[in-house]
Amino acid sequence: MSILDAHTHSVKPKSVVSVGYGDSLKLDEIDYFSVGVHPWIFTQSIDLKDVLTFIENISFERKLVAIGETGLDKLFPQFENQKLIFNLQINLSIEMDLPVIIHSVKSQNEILKILKSKNLKNSILFHGFNGSKQEAFEILNNGHYIGVGPQLLKNMRVNTYLSEIPLDRILIETDDTNTQVDKILHLMSLKLEKPKDFLKDHLNKNFFNFFNL
Ligand SMILES: [Zn+2]
Repeated sequence: MSILDAHTHSVKPKSVVSVGYGDSLKLDEIDYFSVGVHPWIFTQSIDLKDVLTFIENISFERKLVAIGETGLDKLFPQFENQKLIFNLQINLSIEMDLPVIIHSVKSQNEILKILKSKNLKNSILFHGFNGSKQEAFEILNNGHYIGVGPQLLKNMRVNTYLSEIPLDRILIETDDTNTQVDKILHLMSLKLEKPKDFLKDHLNKNFFNFFNL
């Protein structure tokens, strides 16, 4: 089996394709998808009511495996509205018993506070994570997962402590890049000094556990 991609914005097989507000996708072209409203939504001129209706109408389809990408981003406008739609999506994930793919920029404290305030049993992925080691362990100690992908190409912060993250809490992703997931796997295998096949089996197992498949 090839390596499964936990988070991408491109339409491709063997991946969880992230569908956002206003996207239209032919579902027969993909194996799995997630649906969510991204915190960057407020850079567009949108009607908040339409966004809320979109969230309300997210329904269970066979290939829907997660809520997301959703989250909070302090570098983008309307933080209070971001919080409002994030909260609604977390509530929805609890109702639907679906994991959540989270985008967090300078907002980890706010996100963990919201997550802690809920009776959460579903799994949470902090995708594209690039915080400090301390922040990473705060996430891990709360039982959540860390998404690793394009950060490996850019030598970002997460590279310095990647080997200390428990392997069963890592998901591999390509996010919004054109990078092949195999390339990410290759880089991870070099950094962790583990054979590619060993890593692939482990990461695919994490994928199935995380998405309840
Ligand atoms: Zn993304």
